[in-house]
Amino acid sequence: MEEVFHIVFRDVSLLARFNAIVANYISDFGEDTGNEDERFTTRGTLRRVAVPSYVHDAIYFRDGGECRTCKKPIDRVLSPEARERYDHIVPLAHGGANDITNIQLLCEACNAAKSARSETVSGLYPRVYRLSIG
Ligand SMILES: [Zn+2]
Repeated sequence: MEEVFHIVFRDVSLLARFNAIVANYISDFGEDTGNEDERFTTRGTLRRVAVPSYVHDAIYFRDGGECRTCKKPIDRVLSPEARERYDHIVPLAHGGANDITNIQLLCEACNAAKSARSETVSGLYPRVYRLSIG
């Protein structure tokens, strides 16, 4: 079972489609519970929660330390000025979940450009290694 998770976790296109389906359920549930459930905003979407560091590490490793949109390296050692952004693939504002399957690594510029838009995620598997540095 653990092997299945590792295979599915690397396929971000599949995760994006899965989370779009989950978002429909979250939106329906959020509409029904209204203000009675503190996990939801008054608009019926899930509140943002702090992402645990193990999730940051797992996403960073899965995405190869590169922005999933522009492929710029976000190297924690060689480019300390580069800011990692852990983006909700399906934004919370669109019913997205606070779940490891709904998080991707973006650079600061791509994250700012995306804002609360859902957009097609890269279907490419992250590179296992880089051909050149810099
Ligand atoms: Zn980028």
